[in-house]
Amino acid sequence: MNNGEKTHKHKPKSDFEALATQDMNENLTRTAQWTVTQKLALTARMLAAEGHGSALAGQITARGETPGTMWTAKFGLGLDEIHASDFILVNDDLAVLEGNGMPNPSNRFHLWIYRARADVTCVVHTHPPYVSALSMIGVPLIASHMDTAMFFEDCAWLSEWPGPPIGDEEGDLISSALGDKRSILLAHHGQLSAGETIEQAAVLAFHFERAAKMQLLAMAAGEITPLPPAAGHHAHDYRLKQAPLNATFDYYARQVLAREGDSVLA
Ligand SMILES: [Zn+2]
Repeated sequence: MNNGEKTHKHKPKSDFEALATQDMNENLTRTAQWTVTQKLALTARMLAAEGHGSALAGQITARGETPGTMWTAKFGLGLDEIHASDFILVNDDLAVLEGNGMPNPSNRFHLWIYRARADVTCVVHTHPPYVSALSMIGVPLIASHMDTAMFFEDCAWLSEWPGPPIGDEEGDLISSALGDKRSILLAHHGQLSAGETIEQAAVLAFHFERAAKMQLLAMAAGEITPLPPAAGHHAHDYRLKQAPLNATFDYYARQVLAREGDSVLA
């Protein structure tokens, strides 16, 4: 007997990381081939099921193929009833180029983010209850848990509330406050997540509400302790790896399709 003496040598963590990344890239392959508007409709539905709906508030947009254009759902629909065919293509003044209906007039600040951030292809903005509650107390989002580490030093805070964001001033203010980060908590308003892909923006928005809920629970119970910076940065990058992130989106999409049927994609 060795009485618990450690006989197994540690391999460097980076070896496991490289192997895990290779395995995930090879095994987490995707079968579904959804179009841009189908992915946007799936995003609307998965967020609705997580409680992101608030009357007609919130917009899910994607950059169009032609520069200066974006896809957005026609105004007047709740997140839980959006289909792929409800998306319209608008120009950089919100004029409709393709499809019927009008965009939400509060969609203008998305255009500012696409102009400022060449890396962003999708913006998801919602007002879910825990995010909204956090936005009312003047406290930024704190990423202090492994499951929400994708926000570690990657979530901005806009403490100023400009009112309904229908003008250019709000677009300038929000895109400037976002800076080079992927997400932002908007005081007295909600969350915004800007992704390199639709999948990334969707998963960030989904987990933003979880992060806000966890933060409010933790704040009610005690003082939140910060993540150690090196581990926090590592966990942030790990959470944003493309293959498992896409697999997470596909999991939430399967839940939508099992619950609501293929008509979401029509
Ligand atoms: Zn809003």
